[in-house]
Amino acid sequence: MSQQNFRSILTGSFSTPCDDNPTVAMIEAAYQHHDIDARYINCDVKAEGLKDAVAGARAMEWVGFNCSLPHKVKVIEYLDEVAESARIIGAVNCVSIRDGRLIGDNTDGKGFLASLKKVTDPSGKKVLLLGAGGAARAIAVELGLASAAHITVMNRDPKKAETIAALVRDNTSAKADVQAWDGDASVPEDVDILINATSIGLGDSETMPPLKVETLRKGLIVADVIPNPPRTRLLREAESKGCTVLDGLGMLVNQGVIGVEHWLGKTLDAGVMEKTLKDIFGAA
Ligand code: NDP
Repeated sequence: MSQQNFRSILTGSFSTPCDDNPTVAMIEAAYQHHDIDARYINCDVKAEGLKDAVAGARAMEWVGFNCSLPHKVKVIEYLDEVAESARIIGAVNCVSIRDGRLIGDNTDGKGFLASLKKVTDPSGKKVLLLGAGGAARAIAVELGLASAAHITVMNRDPKKAETIAALVRDNTSAKADVQAWDGDASVPEDVDILINATSIGLGDSETMPPLKVETLRKGLIVADVIPNPPRTRLLREAESKGCTVLDGLGMLVNQGVIGVEHWLGKTLDAGVMEKTLKDIFGAA
């Protein structure tokens, strides 16, 4: 009898559009690096096909998949279980399939936190969070669960910011308030961590969130969620003022690492994944 195994472990992503999603390259590079016989399949799944795609993944015994736009909320109704932070955030971007059971988690905020923890422990820290979309919501909840002291959510539309601040107040020990974003924002002196969780800077290395650069100071941690280009103008300005900076590649890589830990119980080499993304983005 042959001992050879011609069946790979199956993982992947459901989103639409998905042609420019580089996660497949990042994760498959790491699978190859570790000699893991697994595939990550980037699937274009339209809204009306999500239910069938999820059922297909279960039927084909995939071990898990990521969900990106527009499926992060809708997918919840097809799951058997949802992890605590994903339930609070109200969105799932990572599903594990164990014994036919579908378990949802949100690794966006966890990926950010893993990246942040390399430079500081958020416990007891004061945070100014720019933006109130999906990324900001996931980051705010994880920071609250990690015992941040206070989070100010700043957004053009303060109603969206208030929704996030209320989630943090109601579900974590952190205090949270809101500031309308009107003109150039100042970073108060007692803020420890500034986070750009808006889409400003995506694909544009010269645009930065409207803020008074003179309020960036040595000792402040400045993080950007923008993965491409990784060295955003905000991070370049912050670096020139002596701030500690964190790029959006770390968040992207770490959410991939966490997802594969859920699926395979193995920790992938983050360096291999980051290098793959940098090569793709021409940022090596
Ligand atoms: P959303 O569309 O949900 O939210 C976008 C946010 O940006 C909103 O708060 C919006 O404000 C704000 N915004 C956009 N343009 C401006 C502007 N000109 N001035 C002020 N505010 C602005 O997007 P997501 O939260 O899903 O994603 C945000 C970014 O995070 C994206 O660029 C995405 O690529 C990145 N991301 C990175 C990840 C990573 O792993 N590195 C993971 C997930 C996302 P308003 O509400 O007022 O419109």
